[in-house]
Amino acid sequence: MANLSLRDATKTFDDDGDEIIAVDELNLEIEDGEFLVLVGPSGCGKSTTLRMVAGLETPTSGSINIGDEPIHHQTPQERDIAMVFQSYALYPHMTVYENMAFGLEESSDLSDEETEEQVNTAAEMLGITDLLGRKPGELSGGQQQRVALGRAIVRDPKVFLLDEPLANLDAKLRAEMRTELQQLQEDLGTTTIYVTHDQTEAMTMSDRIAILDGGMLQQVGTPMECYHEPANLFVAGFIGEPSMNFFDVTRADDVLVGDGFEYPLSEEMSASIDGTTELVLGIRPENVGIVERSSGPTVFPGVVDVIEPHGNENAVHLRFAESSTDETFTSTVDGMRHLTGGQQVGVSFPEDAVYLFDTATGDALRHRVVEDIEEVQEIGTR
Ligand code: ATP
Repeated sequence: MANLSLRDATKTFDDDGDEIIAVDELNLEIEDGEFLVLVGPSGCGKSTTLRMVAGLETPTSGSINIGDEPIHHQTPQERDIAMVFQSYALYPHMTVYENMAFGLEESSDLSDEETEEQVNTAAEMLGITDLLGRKPGELSGGQQQRVALGRAIVRDPKVFLLDEPLANLDAKLRAEMRTELQQLQEDLGTTTIYVTHDQTEAMTMSDRIAILDGGMLQQVGTPMECYHEPANLFVAGFIGEPSMNFFDVTRADDVLVGDGFEYPLSEEMSASIDGTTELVLGIRPENVGIVERSSGPTVFPGVVDVIEPHGNENAVHLRFAESSTDETFTSTVDGMRHLTGGQQVGVSFPEDAVYLFDTATGDALRHRVVEDIEEVQEIGTR
């Protein structure tokens, strides 16, 4: 069993007398065999968290445990954890075989035959058997990446820590390695924390995502939960590409008044916002409908601004016809749909896709519910 837990884990740094709180009372439970992706913008504390788990940083306060055993006082060597860095950190003068065998020889008392067997098994798993005699300088980025992974795998650790391991690869290889890595982790069943600032990696690879901002945990949940049930404005804006559209609105009786539109409040919406008057209305681009002009209370006059073709779909940037500013928002539509800049349209915001946030706190007051969405999908496939 290798479930990993961080309890109130905090790390502060001293910057010429100023205290930097890199990680702020972080609580996380990572289950045995789970693939947890730690995601957030630059400087949010991802690497510091990983380095605390690896033993490269000591927490200022709080604890880190594997099972019931506190590990935060142990040296990196004493922890049964393997880390893969963005830079790969391979030894240039050693062959691939030597790079992979080195860590194993350092951390175990296996015989030469046993070491050879483990290196060969890992190399086979990663498809790099024919590269074992080469030096890192003779390998492509993707191959070096595999060797770095191989070096971690041979040690058969309790926990893998991966710090942006795909960041140096080109887009196509990155997409391939995403699937490969995910499959590998599933086969090995090793508890894994994977750090990235790329929300696509977080969505596609993880069992659960933990989202950090400013050293603080914003939400932890399955990719579907974080996408459909964001806890706050930060998560709603961070997860999803293109990002959710946000509009400042003020409640006035039974409507939400925005710049260029007035959204009617249903009883259910009204109950969800309670007495809050200053709100942010959110809607994802795929839920913004483009229809014939004005056909119902949740359809508003709009103008097409710019169309960004992506092949399979188009990102359409729109403005409200009655808006006082030039601010645009995005709708994603089928790639075959023909729209032109300047075209007058109706913009539809279906009620079940509308999110509401408290402007003052950023907290989500109304969001979609994953179970409802799964139910709709099931009905749709019948
Ligand atoms: P990135 O995606 O850019 O790597 P990150 O989310 O991994 O960012 P961290 O490297 O964990 O962020 O840094 C968190 C905060 O702690 C940042 O404000 C950073 O400047 C600060 N920090 C990290 N290490 C140190 C250090 N050794 N001394 C002082 N400040 C540090």
